[in-house]
Amino acid sequence: MKFYKDHYDVIVIGGALAGLSSALMLADKGKDVLVLERHNLPGGIASSFVRGGIEIEAALHEMMSIGEKDNRLKVGKFFDDMGVDIEWLKVPEAYHASLPGLEVTLHPGLETFAKEVDAAVPGTYQKVLALLNLCNSVFDSVNELSIHPMSKAKMLIKHEAFVKTAGYTTQEVIDSFDLPKKAQDLLAPYWIYVGSGFSDLPFTIYSVLMADYIGYGSYIPRKFSHEMSLKMAERAEAMGVQIEYRQHVDKILVKNGKAYGVRTSRGDEIHADYVISSSYPNKVYTAMIEPASEVPKEAIKMVNGRRLSLTAFSVIMILDDTAEALGIKDYSVFRGDTMDTDALYKDLAGLGPYRYLTCICHNLGNDTATPPGTCSYSITTLPRVDGWKTVKAEDYDKIKHQVAEQMISDMSGYLGVNLRDHILEIVIETPMTVNRYTNAWNGCIYGYAHTMEDHIIARLQTAEAESFIKHLEFSGAHAISGDGMGPAVTNGRKAAKNVLDTMAVEEAAAK
Ligand SMILES: Cc1cc2nc3c(=O)[nH]c(=O)nc-3n(C[C@H](O)[C@H](O)[C@H](O)COP(=O)(O)OP(=O)(O)OC[C@H]3O[C@@H](n4cnc5c(N)ncnc54)[C@H](O)[C@@H]3O)c2cc1C
Repeated sequence: MKFYKDHYDVIVIGGALAGLSSALMLADKGKDVLVLERHNLPGGIASSFVRGGIEIEAALHEMMSIGEKDNRLKVGKFFDDMGVDIEWLKVPEAYHASLPGLEVTLHPGLETFAKEVDAAVPGTYQKVLALLNLCNSVFDSVNELSIHPMSKAKMLIKHEAFVKTAGYTTQEVIDSFDLPKKAQDLLAPYWIYVGSGFSDLPFTIYSVLMADYIGYGSYIPRKFSHEMSLKMAERAEAMGVQIEYRQHVDKILVKNGKAYGVRTSRGDEIHADYVISSSYPNKVYTAMIEPASEVPKEAIKMVNGRRLSLTAFSVIMILDDTAEALGIKDYSVFRGDTMDTDALYKDLAGLGPYRYLTCICHNLGNDTATPPGTCSYSITTLPRVDGWKTVKAEDYDKIKHQVAEQMISDMSGYLGVNLRDHILEIVIETPMTVNRYTNAWNGCIYGYAHTMEDHIIARLQTAEAESFIKHLEFSGAHAISGDGMGPAVTNGRKAAKNVLDTMAVEEAAAK
């Protein structure tokens, strides 16, 4: 049997969450799909690694859009519908906020959350609940409108909260609730998950973030994020998808403005009616389209015009004692010396010291995360790509260790335990690590930043105009929804839907 067939319906470049979601959805509709993954494993960032015989989560803090078994949100429902059977564990709290003058643990549930903010900042219950309810209304509208687009006139009547707040920044809407600064601070910690300061973050995006995470809680797979990608790959293969690992796609073949296949670095030329790329548009339009003359100028303008979102710097440790013995009380801690998101965002353009950290102790959400008598602890910051782009090879090691030392010192001070005395294993992930393992442009983990000019709704409106090459779709954190593992799944589904819709239109036209 030949390694590749003569022709596929769709080739998917990249076998991580987004690419595998596309593959699952297409296979479910009977399409013949080939996934080409450059690594020897599926998952991209949704992966784990082994040190000292212990499997360690590479990235995931928490998944959004999963929901309880009998009340699934869109990502959880997609996994269920596709037969991707994951053991989900609900994360016990929303977060512990460690901010100037505040040490507060907050739990999911809109009312619970508002009560807990009120306990820390008395007199704020009604206003905080009203703000969270507003977020929830916007969230419901976004979910409905993403499935059933409607006229502006109808939207005004059916989705008033969404329409009313759509042109406002997060800061503008929060200010309108006239909350004391401390309460505002307690409502801000998740900002880093969408990677824009509140003066430039559309309230719509903040609403989705808060309503999803606070309203429904977050989840982790028992066997780490790799459980998702491994089971997705397994299920896709069972549904007839061909997945080939260690196959780096060098070129996307285009003729007369239409993609018709790919060439791998091994030299295989493989043909298909459609190509879906997990590789960033920046990479595709500047280096992958063959011949390069097929790249429209507008495509280059588009990638130059978009602002890349955040990358990651993470210190991941296995410690030699239990969380309890080490005084680690919370699954998730957000710690900063300010909660001024604009100032923090500015700061993330540098190389540290970083003033905003997010820390996870997996054992407090997953009792089988590490062997008995140990625990895993990760300290993460999400810098912008700007600073890291300037690091010279000869300075990399020094800067990496400086940043890691600062983060370990900060959290050792917070916990009152010198973490260095307890490290069994330590791995430092940098933007370069992300780039090396996933090929992500500049090590970016969230695609393009959500700003007032460029966000999901604006992108939905310009999507058709930005479809520069026919039969080529993008599936990854860099596609419409941006940000994180849940949205990567949604983006993968959207790319598959675009392919299916185009197929239907072209088939109808050919009849
Ligand atoms: C430390 C850290 C913590 C994080 N925490 C969270 C969290 O708590 N919650 C959350 O939702 N998100 C989190 N994220 C972000 C999240 O991991 C990503 O947004 C998401 O996994 C992106 O998925 P993806 O499918 O778009 O891309 P990737 O995971 O980057 O995968 C791209 C895939 O395509 C393959 N590929 C690329 N180019 C080619 C090519 N030319 N040929 C063949 N294959 C190719 C790569 O090998 C890779 O497998 C975190 C990320 C990091 C680094």
